[in-house]
Amino acid sequence: ARLVGGGADADERAVEAALRPRTLGEFIGQERLREQLSLVLDAARGRGRSADHILLSGPPGLGKTTLAMIVATEMGVPLRITSGPAIQHAGDLAAILSSISEGEVLFFDEIHRTARPAEELLYTAMEDFRVDVVVGKGPGATAIPLELPPFTLVGATTRTGLLPGPLRDRFGFTGHLELYEPKELEQVLYRSAGLLSVELREDGAREIAGRSRGTPRIANRLLRRVRDFAEVRADAVVTGDIARAALEVFEVDEIGLDRLDRAVLAALCKNFGGGPVGLGTLAVAVAEERETVEEVAEPFLVRAGLLARTPRGRVATPAAWAHLGMTVPQHAPF
Ligand code: ADP
Repeated sequence: ARLVGGGADADERAVEAALRPRTLGEFIGQERLREQLSLVLDAARGRGRSADHILLSGPPGLGKTTLAMIVATEMGVPLRITSGPAIQHAGDLAAILSSISEGEVLFFDEIHRTARPAEELLYTAMEDFRVDVVVGKGPGATAIPLELPPFTLVGATTRTGLLPGPLRDRFGFTGHLELYEPKELEQVLYRSAGLLSVELREDGAREIAGRSRGTPRIANRLLRRVRDFAEVRADAVVTGDIARAALEVFEVDEIGLDRLDRAVLAALCKNFGGGPVGLGTLAVAVAEERETVEEVAEPFLVRAGLLARTPRGRVATPAAWAHLGMTVPQHAPF
């Protein structure tokens, strides 16, 4: 698995699952969202109904899947997981929907990547709890309406703006997840260290939190790599010095930029003289989709004060040049 990227192997998913908070009370940070969600769930429980459809937006690794699982746990209902990219045909979705049980939570990751025909099926399923199953092909095809039991769709997307209006409108509640503050990531780390039986010192937690891109998934990942290092090279205690030495070995820089972050900054400064450059051009330069650059890399780069989004395009800040060890050119655009 990549140390800081998006991908995860089976082993990593298993550890990730073990570290997931199970209740809203255990979930760290995102105070406002937690309060809102708890109101939505309490109200639904009070009425003895399934909760309204919920849309969660925010960069990867901030806890959207975890919250979907928590919704199911708190409502005491089963959970099923699918994703936009997994649904190629409307039939794939019809199969899932037609086997859904009463009250079930259907977690739909990367819902903005759902293929068009499936998306339309989703509209009626969400609104009228019905799917029209098409039988046959061509002129003889008939649509057989199938009633669905009430269920709760929890959709996840990197940004709500990526969703077509009609889909967005079918969610009764939309919550936004923000990047976490270093203090909150320290809490995530202490919690995980407890579960993994790692002895984590205060300066160790601070060091790892500061390099985690505001992202719990990355904090947990880095903790495991630092633990490896501490076990092999030291007495298994994670101090600030050990964390620094370990993260150097794994090429995580002082502010935790990952491969894509660094590629974006490097392209911005080296290929485009610091900008301004359009998002599309920048995405091509780093061989990524626009959306990935905008939704995955940029939120943290903006928050870290390394990149600015201006009306004329993306611009590298003086801090970006300094971070790359380059001198700010005379003509720099700020
Ligand atoms: P997403 O679905 O947004 O990509 P996940 O829900 O899969 O993110 O979370 C990634 C990892 O980070 C999980 O292992 C989860 O336990 C951990 N995590 C996320 N948010 C929190 C939080 N608020 N408190 C504790 N751990 C968290």
